[in-house]
Amino acid sequence: MARIVYLNGEWLEESKAQVSVFDRGFLFADAIYEVTAVIGGKLIDYAGHAARLKRSLGSLGIPMPVEEEALLSLHREILTRNGMTDGLIYLQVTRGAEDRDFLFSADLQPTFVMFTQAKSVLDNPRWKTGISVVSRPDGRWANRHIKTVQLLYSTLAKMEAKKAGADDVFLVEDGLVTEASSANAHIVTKDGVLVTRALSNALLHGITRGSILDLAARAGLAVEERSFSIEEAKAAAEVFITSASAFVMPVISIDGVTIGSGAPGPVSQKLLQIYIEERLATAI
Ligand code: PMP
Repeated sequence: MARIVYLNGEWLEESKAQVSVFDRGFLFADAIYEVTAVIGGKLIDYAGHAARLKRSLGSLGIPMPVEEEALLSLHREILTRNGMTDGLIYLQVTRGAEDRDFLFSADLQPTFVMFTQAKSVLDNPRWKTGISVVSRPDGRWANRHIKTVQLLYSTLAKMEAKKAGADDVFLVEDGLVTEASSANAHIVTKDGVLVTRALSNALLHGITRGSILDLAARAGLAVEERSFSIEEAKAAAEVFITSASAFVMPVISIDGVTIGSGAPGPVSQKLLQIYIEERLATAI
């Protein structure tokens, strides 16, 4: 069955969905996106993703393409139209299309696209093995709190990581870890403290990160929001990353240095379990 995507008010087979070559998303990466996980037909952490969509659009001065209620209905309808119960819903909003110019018109109509990727997010074999990362300088732009589609640096860095035999990359600025290519980075110190970088323009404000901090504190774990160096990460008891697609993914080596015992640690595993339980219970 051909995938059905949503484009500017229409439901189309993916091969029929077309965006102008003058779209500013294509010409200038003038666009933002969101990703929400779906389990058993329900949306995980949806409120957080919808709120961040609004913030990202607000930061760039792009109008919301649809009302909030309609947005939720579209999420539900794209699942029904594609018969999808498990996977990811991507949405992308660009400033719109007009003749190429750095300056844009105030009344541009945004381009709004939604598409699905079916997969069993609960069946992730890497949760058991953990992943390896290598560190690279963070060469992205300075406003990483906005979820723009400017993912070029991150994709190149991840390709480099793959060539180096690793699964992902830790981006480092002034010796401090900002985040992974498409996930937030966290460590657990030898004293059992969960440390994660405080929110700023240096990193994306991950929805899963926020949930995990909440759930960790509720589970009685000590949490510190502060920057940590790549050396501190290498010497930590546990390292893990969080994202809407991988939830809590243990990191078992950095630049070839084994983390802890070299296997997913108890805190990461517990947080993954709590996240799945809690977020399934509150899924809509
Ligand atoms: N940082 C970056 C750079 C990302 O691309 C992502 C995921 N898109 C995240 C963090 C994690 O954010 P979330 O938990 O909202 O998926």
